[in-house]
Amino acid sequence: MSAPILKFVGVSRVYHSGDEDVRALDEVSFHVDAGELVAVMGPSGSGKSTLLALAGGLDVPTSGSITVGGTEVTTLAPTSLAQLRRDRIGYVFQDFNLISELTAAENVALPRELAGVRPRAARREAIAALAEVGVDHLAHRFPEQMSGGQQQRIAIARALVGERHLVLADEPTGALDSQTGEAVMEVLRARVDAGAAGVLVTHEPRYAGWADRTIFLRDGRVVEGTTSPVPLEQLLRGHS
Ligand code: ADP
Ligand code: MG
Repeated sequence: MSAPILKFVGVSRVYHSGDEDVRALDEVSFHVDAGELVAVMGPSGSGKSTLLALAGGLDVPTSGSITVGGTEVTTLAPTSLAQLRRDRIGYVFQDFNLISELTAAENVALPRELAGVRPRAARREAIAALAEVGVDHLAHRFPEQMSGGQQQRIAIARALVGERHLVLADEPTGALDSQTGEAVMEVLRARVDAGAAGVLVTHEPRYAGWADRTIFLRDGRVVEGTTSPVPLEQLLRGHS
């Protein structure tokens, strides 16, 4: 039995826009154990990115409880939350979020240096993470000198570097051709098999097939959980 690394209990997130309330997540409960990869699928606007941002401590729920490695993150002091995010959580953003003034290796080494790892060791770890996703030959390139797919792999290396217990990825295969997409899934899967917990937002059943379970969101609610993403395909019409 492995302990849940990520646990949502009755989590809701309500956005106020004008005099309208948007219930982006509505009483969502689920957990992800160590060694488990969970896919999150659902139409555009169903709350997938909101769920991931909450799991990564980038947003705060309106109500409910979220624990990461047993720590309640919703009441954590900002500095402790920042430390948890930096040291324990890897986050792959849909739009990469690489720092344009830094090379690939520097982008990947940065979270380690911020975590107090010495520059030489951080660089070594960065090169290893880049090699893991097959782009160590791009270590000296700046983001603008790389294709979208290459940048995406740098972003994935940055999310995996060090000892992240929780890896969160929002459509990490979006900018990739299918061969590269499969390669990225292999890396994510290997990291999870080595003991991390992973959450993958995707609209492609092919990639969700790498997960142990799929959670399906609609209008902010979990509508279906299944071990096989394939029967959900028809529910995905109107995805983004
Ligand atoms: P998905 O990633 O599944 O497309 P999101 O989590 O981005 O969905 O959005 C869920 C719902 O919350 C949508 O209705 C969206 O318009 C709304 N939403 C997301 N972010 C905000 C925000 N910052 N302010 C107001 N509404 C938001
Ligand atoms: Mg989204």
